[in-house]
Amino acid sequence: KLRIGVLEVQGAFQEHKNALNKAAKELNDRYILVEVTEVRHSDHITDELNGLIIPGGESTAISLFLKRNNMEEPLRTWIRDKNHITWGTCAGMILLAKETEHQKQGGQISLNCMDTVVSRNYFGRQINSFEADFRITDPDLISKTNAETDYFHGVFIRAPAILRTTCSDVEVLATLEENSESSVIVAARQGNILCTSFHPELTEDTRWHRYFLKMILNRVV
Ligand code: GLN
Repeated sequence: KLRIGVLEVQGAFQEHKNALNKAAKELNDRYILVEVTEVRHSDHITDELNGLIIPGGESTAISLFLKRNNMEEPLRTWIRDKNHITWGTCAGMILLAKETEHQKQGGQISLNCMDTVVSRNYFGRQINSFEADFRITDPDLISKTNAETDYFHGVFIRAPAILRTTCSDVEVLATLEENSESSVIVAARQGNILCTSFHPELTEDTRWHRYFLKMILNRVV
């Protein structure tokens, strides 16, 4: 049985929980039973958790919550020093980054776990929220069922993007083409940490949740 925590500050808990349960079924591995728990207190950040999701929201509001509840340091230790499997979606991607643009004005904390430079509202100037298809290349993420193609339909909500990576350990998992000349990183992995700009918990395609479960399974099995 896998125990997965979802940092619960702004209400994405149920969507992630549903997606994880669906993903576990689709993986069709009889050993997987997931128990999804809320993480809202430093006592909840324990070694009993096999994985953690830091969901979207407002990175400044999440930062404030983490500071007020003395969770910043325990979280950083749990992810960075203890190497636990962690997935940050959207605001989660921002918090995990080593650096964000305009950090001094931003008011959000940096858990300083990924060698990435992130732009908080990368797509903000063009349009706040949009949906777009992008190609995924990792064999683990490509097509497992007939309904799934080499493309993933991403929901971007005031989404961040990775401007650059500062260490070769960071593996780019997906890029979004903005036009024929430029594309931007929207999903990456560095060892135990996964991050996505978009919200896979809002679509039916559970490939990213399956990928996350596989990261955990590779650890525990
Ligand atoms: N851009 C937002 C921020 O700065 C994140 C948006 C999201 O998580 N949907 O926190």
